[in-house]
This record gives sequence, C-alpha cells and structure tokens, in this order.
Amino acid sequence: MVPERLSVLVAGGGPAGFMAAISAAEAGVGGVHLLEATPEPLHKVRISGGGRCNVTHACWDPRELVAHYPRGSRALRGPFSRFAAGDALAWFHEHGLELVEEADGRLFPRSNRSSSVVDTLRRAAATAGVTLHTGLALQSAVLAADGFALQLRGQQLSGQSGAVSARRLVLATGSHPSGRRVAASLGHSLVPPVPSLFTLALAGEPLLALAGVAMDPVGLTLELPDGGIQRQRGPVLITHWGLSGPATLRLTAFAARQLHGCRYRARLRVDWSGGRSQADLEELFQQARSAQPRRQLGNARPWPDLSRRLWQHLVAGAGVEPERRWAELTRQQQGGLIAALRDSRYTVSGRGPFGEEFVTAGGVSLGEVNLATMESRICSGLYLVGELLDVDGITGGFNFQHCWTSGWIAGQAISESAGGPTISGSGRRSRTSADTSQPG
Ligand SMILES: Cc1cc2nc3c(=O)[nH]c(=O)nc-3n(C[C@H](O)[C@H](O)[C@H](O)COP(=O)(O)OP(=O)(O)OC[C@H]3O[C@@H](n4cnc5c(N)ncnc54)[C@H](O)[C@@H]3O)c2cc1C
Repeated sequence: MVPERLSVLVAGGGPAGFMAAISAAEAGVGGVHLLEATPEPLHKVRISGGGRCNVTHACWDPRELVAHYPRGSRALRGPFSRFAAGDALAWFHEHGLELVEEADGRLFPRSNRSSSVVDTLRRAAATAGVTLHTGLALQSAVLAADGFALQLRGQQLSGQSGAVSARRLVLATGSHPSGRRVAASLGHSLVPPVPSLFTLALAGEPLLALAGVAMDPVGLTLELPDGGIQRQRGPVLITHWGLSGPATLRLTAFAARQLHGCRYRARLRVDWSGGRSQADLEELFQQARSAQPRRQLGNARPWPDLSRRLWQHLVAGAGVEPERRWAELTRQQQGGLIAALRDSRYTVSGRGPFGEEFVTAGGVSLGEVNLATMESRICSGLYLVGELLDVDGITGGFNFQHCWTSGWIAGQAISESAGGPTISGSGRRSRTSADTSQPG
C-alpha cells in the first residue's frame, strides 16, 4: 500500500534514486518512498561492468574528474567538490562494502560481484527506513497546493486508485522516456536524447579476420562530414563488426552528438604504431632488416608488442608478399607498410551492436537545475538526479559516480529544506536532526 500523502517520493530505483532516498532518510527525513517500475530495482547496477560493477574511478580531484564528462564537464565542479569519488569510496566503506582499485583506476567491489553493490544499497535503504515499492511506476505529476499530485500505475496498487500526493518529488528515472515526459510536463526543456558510449561498425568489415585482437595504445582520429575532428588514444579491441575498447568508447562519447547528426557515417584514421613517428618507424625497420635479414616478413614483426595477426593483415593489405625476406623489402614497400601502421583509413558505417556500457546523452538541461541542491529552478520541490539529466561520462565508473553525487546532494538538500542539518564544503553529512515532516 502506498500512503495517499507522502513526504518524499523518489521515482526510479536505480543507483541515483537509491542514493537520493538513502541520503535523505539517513539525514533524518521521514517517510521516504522509493518507486521502481520494474520488479527488479538496480537492474543496471547488476548487469554493469560485466557483472562486476565499476562503482567509481580513482580520480580524486574534482577538477580532473569533470574532464571525464562529455556532457556536464565544468558545470559538475560544484557537485563534485561536495561529493566525489573519495566520498563514494568512504560511503560504501561505511556501509560495509570495500572497493578495490584496479591498475587503470577503476574501482570494483572486493567480491568482484555487482550483487554486493545491489545488496549494500538495498540494505542501506532498508536500514535508513526507506520504503521500496517495486512494480509501480510514476505516470504523471502536476503541481498542487502542497507539493505534487501524482498518478501511479502498476499491478501492485491492488485496488488503490494510484492517485497520491507528495511534498517533494525526486525524478531518478534514468534514460526512460517516462521521467523525461514528467519533467517536461512540469516545465523543463529537454536536450534531445542520443546514445553515447558505443562501439563503431566499419564499412565492409575490413578487420573481420582480426576479431579479438587488442592493441594499446592506438590513435583514433574521427573525421566528421561537417569538418569536425575528434581524437582519442588508448586501448582498442578489434571486433567482428569494427572497433571497441576504451579508446573507441571515449571517442564515441565525445562525438556522440556529431555522430548522431551524420547518421554515424564518418571517416576514421587509425594509428596502429603506438604513436611512433615516421623516423622512429624507419629506424625500427632498419633494425629489423639488420637483425633478421633472412626472416620472412609474415613471420617477423618489426617490434614484439605489435600483434602478429595485425601485422600480417597490414603486410597483406600493403600488397607485400608475406614470404618476402626483410632484406628484400623495397623502399616503396617499406613506405606502404609504415603508412599502414601510422595511418590506416576506414569508413565508419554505423554503431556496433554491443557495448560495455550504453548511456544516453541529453535529458533535462543542466541550466534548469540548481546544482548545489539538484532542485529544479523551474519547479520548487522537484529534484532531478542521475542519467535523466543532460550529463554523461565516459566508461570507467564515471556514470555511476554522477549518480552517487547527484543522489547524495539531492538527499541532503531535501533534509535541509525540511529543517535538517546543513552540510557545507566537501565534508560528509553529520547525522543529527530528524525531519519532522511525516507522510500526510
Ligand atoms: C550494460 C551496462 C553496463 C554499465 N556499466 C557501468 C559501469 O560499470 N560503471 C558505470 O559507472 N556505469 C555503467 N553503466 C551506466 C550506468 O548503468 C548508468 O549510467 C546508471 O545506471 C544510471 O543510473 P540512474 O539511476 O540515473 O538510472 P537507471 O539505472 O536507469 O535507473 C532508473 C530506474 O528507474 C526506473 N524507472 C524508469 N521510469 C520510471 C517511472 N516512471 N516510475 C518508476 N520507476 C521508473 C527504471 O526501471 C530504472 O530501474 C552501464 C550501463 C549499461 C547499460
């Protein structure tokens, strides 16, 4: 049963909604109800990070952290100065979950299981007194005398009409259109949603035979039809359809809007050489010629870190017989091979079918939200958090970090507006007073 009059309704049982609800309830706000449309809250947390959940990233300085958000960026400095990756680490520690840093800075639960994160959030919510309703969706919201008149929908209503009211409403519906619709109905303008963080399909599947090959670092230069250029360097994984891996995902995140605008058709230049200059490569070729003059090119790479399969593919693509010996390599053939290593050209034909993470760029415009409280500047008592906002990060735990940050800030602000404790600076909350507002 959902009470007909609520103090706080959080719509959306994902990471941002859970954090907002827990943060408010732990700060003393009573009567926090968390609504999840599906039977399984925190579904994306469960499937995240390949089932391991990349909770956040070891990037401790808010000024550096913001550089990982193609949408949001500098505007997030304020929120991150209040609750950033170090605060998330401490928060999970305080709630019984140890996070472990990997060599590339990503933080995962020590158990390596996303279920530990789900369990931690669910336990924290229950302990703090948050009431969770699953299988119940927020359908509409209109401003009323004392907050919002809401219409809920779902089988769990069991005879109830679904009409309830709430003094404060937190929208944490992620990329689901229903949340955007409610935000728009309350006066918010929306930045059109487009996909971010996807893999690239290449026309003609030129790398099909190399599926599974990983190289690091690889330089990617995306040339867009409007003349725009995006560059990234880092690990790349060759797939059946084209390219994946962190550098590809970073590239598509920063170029998400432009790529959408040109229907995912662009030119891609790939530097497979690890950033080596023409002179470096000529020197390496000279060394290979001297050290292994009689070895066949197909069997002897110019340097050991170069994938054997990729090298053989580039040799064939440059029209050089793999049986040719290093001593027999002509200047022209060397030029062709160096060009293939430094500047292979492909045509992007679309988005790849799978990604490690998919997020949506776009959503409620940040300019319409007070980022010190996550409260709407348009509609008082409405809070907006998580992926619903026009914020998205690159792969590496940055998307969840924004959920922890925006959710935590909203919860604190709700407590403050209800007469709870005032939190300043980056200090974490001190749990002192209780909200006197009760449901009803
Ligand atoms: C496969 C995959 C792997 C990922 N891995 C990572 C990772 O390792 N690290 C990382 O940082 N990010 C990762 N992400 C991104 C991350 O999952 C999202 O950025 C994050 O979940 C957004 O959180 P949210 O709470 O804003 O929205 P969501 O997680 O989408 O949660 C919103 C919830 O609201 C519910 N809902 C929607 N509409 C309504 C309504 N009207 N009423 C009630 N409930 C509603 C939805 O059912 C959903 O449960 C991954 C994403 C995917 C798809």
